[in-house]
Amino acid sequence: MNAKVIDGKAFAATVRARVAEHVAANAAHGQPGLAVVLVGDDPASDVYVRSKGRMTREVGMASVKHRLSAETSEADLLKLIDDLNNDDSIHGILVQLPLPGHLNEDLVINSIDPAKDVDGFHTSNVGLLGTGQKSMVPCTPLGCLLMLKDHHGSLSGLNAVVIGRSNIVGKPMAQMLLKESCTVTVAHSRTRNIAEVVKRAEIVVAAVGRPEMVTGDWIKPGATVIDVGINRINETVKGGGKTSLVGDCHYDSCAEVAGAITPVPGGVGPMTIACLLLNTLNAFCDQKGLPRPS
Ligand code: NDP
Repeated sequence: MNAKVIDGKAFAATVRARVAEHVAANAAHGQPGLAVVLVGDDPASDVYVRSKGRMTREVGMASVKHRLSAETSEADLLKLIDDLNNDDSIHGILVQLPLPGHLNEDLVINSIDPAKDVDGFHTSNVGLLGTGQKSMVPCTPLGCLLMLKDHHGSLSGLNAVVIGRSNIVGKPMAQMLLKESCTVTVAHSRTRNIAEVVKRAEIVVAAVGRPEMVTGDWIKPGATVIDVGINRINETVKGGGKTSLVGDCHYDSCAEVAGAITPVPGGVGPMTIACLLLNTLNAFCDQKGLPRPS
C-alpha cells in the first residue's frame, strides 16, 4: 500500500476539541443548543441520533431530542419546528432524514429557519452556497473539504471529480470545491467512460452508495481519494453470516495507486458529526453577532 491513510477519526477529534474550546471561550454569550427531531423508529437513525446527542454534550453544548411517532402529522411536525425556530436557547435544528413517506421532506426542511439549518439543506442555504456567499453548508461534504484542505493546503487549480450528484453530498461537494478554485467534474449514473473521467482527477470524492465500485485502475497515481460511501455487506464466514462496512471505493486496490485515501469506517463518517457541531457553533456565533471560529 502506498497511500497515506487520512485518519478521519483522529481529525474529527481535533475538530470537536476546537469546537469545545470555542464553546468554553464564549460561555459569557450563552450555551449553543442543538435540537434533533426524529420521526419514527428507524433503528439506524436512532443510533445516529444517540451518538449526535452524546457528542453535542461532550463539547459543552445543550442537546435536545424530540422523538415523534411515525404517524405524526405534517402540521404537528411543522408546529414543533416553528416552536424551535422561535426558541432562543436553540441555535441549530436538525430533522433526521429520511422522514416517513406521508411527510413532505422539502416542505419540512424549508420550514426550518435558514439561520438554524445546521444540515445546510434549506433552499436559501443551497442558493447562498451556489452563489459563493456565507451560508450553512451540509456536514458530510464540509467534512470532506476540511480533510482535503488539511492534506493539500490550497486546492486551487486541482482537477476534482465528484462521483454522485445527490443534494446532500455530491452537489454541495462540487460547489465547495468550485469555491476553492478546483476544476470540478460531477459524474453520475449516466456518465460515459466513468473510469476515464475519474482517472483525470487529482481529487476523487466518491458518494455513490455502491460497494467498492471505484477500483485502483480508475485512479490517477498520487490522487487523493475521499470515500463517502457507507455500504453494509453480508459476508459468509465459516458458514455463518457477518455484516461489514465497505466504502464506494475498493480500498486495497485504490490505496496501491492513490497518494492519500480515507478508510471506511474511520474516514468521512466521524467528520460528519464533528461538522454538525462546527455548524451549530457557527450558527450560534452568527445569531450572537460573534465571528465564526476560523
Ligand atoms: P444517493 O443515492 O442520493 O446518490 C447516489 C448518486 O450516485 C446519484 O447521483 C447516482 O446518480 C450516483 N450513482 C449511482 N450509481 C452510479 C453508477 N453506477 N455510476 C456513477 N454514479 C452512480 O446517495 P447519497 O449521496 O445520499 O449517498 C452516497 C453514499 O454516501 C451512500 O453510500 C451513503 O450511505 C453515503 N453517505 C455517507 C455519509 C457519511 O457521513 N459518511 C453521509 C451521507 C451519505 P444519478 O443521480 O444519475 O442517479
